[in-house]
Formats: sequence, C-alpha cells, structure tokens
Amino acid sequence: MSLQRRLTIFFMVIVIIPLTVAGFVVQRIVGREISKRTELSLPGALSSVVTTFEQRTEMLDERLNSTFDSDDPPPLAGASGELDEYLQDGLMTDEVLDFVYYVSSDGSIRGSAENTPSFLKGVERPSPQEIASSGGTGHAYVTASVPVTGTGSLVGGFWLDDEILLGADQKGVGLSIVVDGRVIASTLPLDWPKKLGVEFPGTFRADIGDGVIARARELGNGVSVMASIPATRASSASSSVLKSILVLLVLALIGTAALAILLARLITRPLDEVSLAAQAVSEGRFDQRIPVRSRDEVGRLAVAFNDMTDRLASTIGELQSSRSMLQRAVRRVGETLRSTHEMPQLLESLLNTAADAVGAGAAILWMFTPTREELYPAMARGAVLSQLGRVKVGEGVVGVAAERGTNVVLPSLGGGPIPSRNEPRSPTLIAVPLYSHERIMAVLVTYKQAAERPFHDEDVETLAFLAEQGGVAVENVLLHEEAQRLSLTDGLTGVYNRRYLQMQARQVLATAVRFKRPFSILMMDLDHFKHVNDTFGHSRGDAILIEFSKRVSGTLREVDTFARYGGEEFVCLLSETAVDGAMITAAKILEAVRSGPFGERGDPPVTLTVSIGIATFPVHGETFRSLIESADRALYGAKTEGRDRARTSGDPLQSLQPAT
Ligand code: GH3
Ligand code: MG
Ligand code: MG
Repeated sequence: MSLQRRLTIFFMVIVIIPLTVAGFVVQRIVGREISKRTELSLPGALSSVVTTFEQRTEMLDERLNSTFDSDDPPPLAGASGELDEYLQDGLMTDEVLDFVYYVSSDGSIRGSAENTPSFLKGVERPSPQEIASSGGTGHAYVTASVPVTGTGSLVGGFWLDDEILLGADQKGVGLSIVVDGRVIASTLPLDWPKKLGVEFPGTFRADIGDGVIARARELGNGVSVMASIPATRASSASSSVLKSILVLLVLALIGTAALAILLARLITRPLDEVSLAAQAVSEGRFDQRIPVRSRDEVGRLAVAFNDMTDRLASTIGELQSSRSMLQRAVRRVGETLRSTHEMPQLLESLLNTAADAVGAGAAILWMFTPTREELYPAMARGAVLSQLGRVKVGEGVVGVAAERGTNVVLPSLGGGPIPSRNEPRSPTLIAVPLYSHERIMAVLVTYKQAAERPFHDEDVETLAFLAEQGGVAVENVLLHEEAQRLSLTDGLTGVYNRRYLQMQARQVLATAVRFKRPFSILMMDLDHFKHVNDTFGHSRGDAILIEFSKRVSGTLREVDTFARYGGEEFVCLLSETAVDGAMITAAKILEAVRSGPFGERGDPPVTLTVSIGIATFPVHGETFRSLIESADRALYGAKTEGRDRARTSGDPLQSLQPAT
C-alpha cells in the first residue's frame, strides 16, 4: 500500500473516530435533553388548564353575583317561558355560563337556559335536577349559585368540555378531562387511549403503559385533567437528532476523505520526488536535483539530498581522476619495474613508489642475507641505513613478516609484533613480503610517525599490489644479474672470461692513455698440461684449473683483473703497474703454483708449473691487441727457455728464471 493511501486512511481514522464518538455522545445528551424538555412541557400545559379552569370558575361566580339587582327581579310570577327568556338574555349571552337554572325554595326548577356541551363522551349527561342539587363541581360540570331573596336560588355553571382545554396553552400536548378513569373531553381524538390500549388508573403516574407519557391534576370531585404526549415523540425527536448527526457524520466523512487525500498528496508529493531522484541516483545518474518548496523537514530533506548529489558528483569526479592518476602511476611503476635491470635503481623506484602511494614518511626494503637467516636493510628512504642493522628471521616486525610470509600492520588490535632493536621504532607501519614464485624475495616496510594520518586498509592493498609487482621485478633483476655474471665469467673456474677482460682492458687502457700511466698484462700457460690430462683424466685437469685460479687470485690486488683467456691460458690485467711491478706479481704467481702439489686430500698429488709472458703499456705496445701479442711472444720465449718462468718479449734481461 502506498504511503499516500496509508496517510489518507490515517487522517480519516484520526478524524472519524473522535467525530463518531462525539456524535454518539451528543446524540445521547441531546436525546435525553429532548425527552426531558418534552416531559417538562406536560406540567406547564396542566397549569394552563388549571388556570383556565379557575378563571372560568371566578368569572362564573362574578357573573352570577352581578346578575341580579333589586330593581329588576326575575319574572318569577310570569309564565315559565318568560323566566327562561330572562335567564337566556341576562346570563347566557357572553358564554361565561353554559347553563343556568332557577331553583325555587322547594327545590323545583322553575326556569332554565342552557347550551349543549361540545361533547361529553363516556358519561351520561347529568339532568338539570342533578346539577342543581349537586352544589359545586360535578362529574362533567362546575356550578355556582346565588340566592334570590325569599324565593329560591340561581344555579349557573359550565361544562367540563373541550372548550376549557382549547382555551388552555396546549404546547403540542394532548389535554384530556378524565372523570373516574374515563375521558370525557379531549383535544385528541377521544378514542386514543383505546387505540394505545391504555387504561387510566385512578391516580396518574408519569407513564401510562408503553406508549404514553402523561401528567394529571385533580380538579376536584373525581375530575382530573391530564396532559399527555406519545412516548414515540420524545424518542422520535432524539432519533431525528441521531439522523442529523449521521448525515453530518457522512458529510464529515466525505469532507475528511477529500481533505485527507489532498493532505496526503501534499505530504507525499515531495517524498515522491525524493524517492524518484534517489532511484535515479541509484542507477548512476548523479545530476539529480529536487525543487525545494518549503523550509520544513521535507524542504530540509530536499536541500540535504541536493547537497548529497552535488558531493557525490564531485567525489565521483575526484575518484575518477584519482583512479586514472593511479592507473597512470601503476602503469609507470610497471614500466619502471620491467625496464629496470639495475638492482639499486629498482629498489629505489620501489621504495619511492611505495612511500608516495601510501603517504609514508619512511620506507625500507629489507633483503635476505645469502644464508636467509637474517634480513638486512638494502635500501631506505626517510631513514638512515647506518642506524639500522640486521634482523633475524622470526624476530621484530620484518623477521615476523619474512617468517610468516604475511602482511604485518601496526598498530594492530591484537598487539602485533614489536620492532626489534635494529628496526625503526615507528608505531605505525605496514610490512609486506615481496614474493616471486612463492619464495619471499624481500620485505617492504612503510613507516609513519604517531602524529601522521594512520594508514588505511586500502594502503595495505596498494602495498600488497606493489609488492607483487616488485617481487617479480626483483627476481628479474637477480636473474639478469646472474645472466650478466655468467656472460662475463668462466663457467668452470668462476674467474672473468675473455669478453670481460677485453671490456676491462678498454677502460684500463683509456685511463692509462689519459693519465699517461703504465699498466701490464701477464699471460700464463700451464706447463705440460696435456700430460696432466692424459695421466689423471680430464676432470682432474678441470679441478686443477679451478685450484690454479684460486692460487693466482690470492696473489692479486682488488684492482687487478684475472681472466681465463682460453683452455689452460689465463691473463692478468695489472692497472697502474710498470714492468718491475709486473715481474714481482709474476714471481708471486710462479711461487704460488710451485708452493705445493695440486689436489685434494686423497688425490694423487700433481706438481705443476706455469710459464708467464709479460707486456707493459706503453713499453711493449700501445693497444691491447699489440700488448697481448707481445705477451704471447714473451710466453713463447719462457716456454722455449725451459718453462716455469716469466719474461718480457724481446728482452731476455727481463726474464725471470725458475728458482733452482
Ligand atoms: P706446454 O708446456 O707446451 O704448454 O705443453 P702443454 O701440454 O700444456 O701443451 P698445450 O698448452 O698446447 O696443451 C693444452 C692442453 O690443455 C690441451 C688440452 O687437453 C688441455 N686443456 C685445455 N683446456 C682444458 C680444460 O678446460 N680442461 C682440461 N682438463 N684440459 C684442458
Ligand atoms: Mg696452452
Ligand atoms: Mg700448456
């Protein structure tokens, strides 16, 4: 059900329920009031009848008393018709009296005049004789009398017929005269009690039977006057009130419904707009704006919504631009990592990218020592390498990250590892291992000071991504370095090869030419090596070549270059060395070879010698090639002279004889 419909029902309910209750209460109160008022009209009507009755009685007395004067006595002596006429003309003209009789002293009626009562039902009309002798109120009449001096009296009266009732104030009330429980005159159809099945009791109570509400008053002598209304009138009055209230209720319901629909629409329209706009936003359209129509809650909601979409749009714009920035950066990093073959350059690039990506003040790349038992800080940014030291695997932050192969983030809820003595004491850090082919290559750690903004979860993801790229790159560089090393060294002895020698010679020569400094080369060839091979086997020959390289390397300086020139021929490149220095070095080599037999313990010992040819720049040549040729000639000389010696080319004086 829509909000609008619910609101409509809600409004109707909150209006209709109190309205109905109020209507019901009003109906009850008004109904009761009406019944009360209706009942209250009964005593009033009765009083009015009684007043009329009393007035009529007073007038009757007055009329009779004022009738006679002694100057005009009634014609008692005349014919009876004359007395009747006299009574008629004298007393009956103004309708105060309904009848008058002249009663002589002996009780006989001598003359009379009378009107017929309008109706007297249910009682027998009383005879003049009866009336005359009753002396007051009878069952259907009221009389009064005045004496006529010495002769008798005049008895006059009026009928208790409906004239008395009609003269009274009826106020919509039925008035009846009841004699001995029987209605003799009434403003209502005389048979109404019968129709209602009402029996009048001797004295009247409020209710007579079911249908009538009545009040009665004694007029005297068994005569009562009764005021009545049908009970249905009181209830019909209240039911008509109920009807009006029902009509009002229905009208109120219709009005309320219309108003409720209007109100609900007014309230829900702005909400509709908000929900439509919100739906549009959820579908990715952020240019939504809602008209602000008021300053109330809904208005504020609209303002807030508009602010929200504005912010969303700008935030998404920023996000998109930073995402493309990130993509560019990642691509750049990827390119850098792929294209860098120099380890220091690679590590520096990795560190800088990592520190910049997560906004870290410092970053250190920790690498394994050859035994992989410890890690050392290979490169640092924002930290001083000399203040750091080695960390054992499994210890500190770096050691733990290296051992577990998982990221370590500090501060951590569970506490986390504590930095070792040789690590920076930073409370905020992310350590990520660099993997390549499931082997940890290094651990990259970014550090922050306590005052800096802490790392986000995304920072860990960013570093993990970098570490993934970096691990592969580091391995690539290591492989590259290994390949380089292999391409420049001799596979058997591990000393430089001829290619490297030539490269190095170019540099040494350039420096020598530039600074006019000497340098020398020694060319060595093992003596009778063929024989060694033939006697002890080729592999033993190989082992001897390795041992020979070691012995020679031990006699050389750091700056000298020792290379295998081919087969069992080796060359030494001695920078900053003139002929004398070269002779000294050659002597050391000869001695190192002579010093003892070759071979491991258990091997048959092999005694070996070497012949050496020496050439010095610029004395024996000014190019590498000419120097090599010169040294080769000198070597040939040494061989022919008996081997186990060193000499320069073409200069026998420079020959170094074997020790004897
Ligand atoms: P000389 O005193 O005249 O030099 O006699 P030599 O036997 O050493 O003669 P030469 O220098 O001509 O012989 C080189 C021999 O060295 C030939 C070859 O069998 C051996 N040789 C060369 N390279 C290797 C190698 O890598 N391993 C082994 N085991 N022997 C090698
Ligand atoms: Mg040889
Ligand atoms: Mg040889």
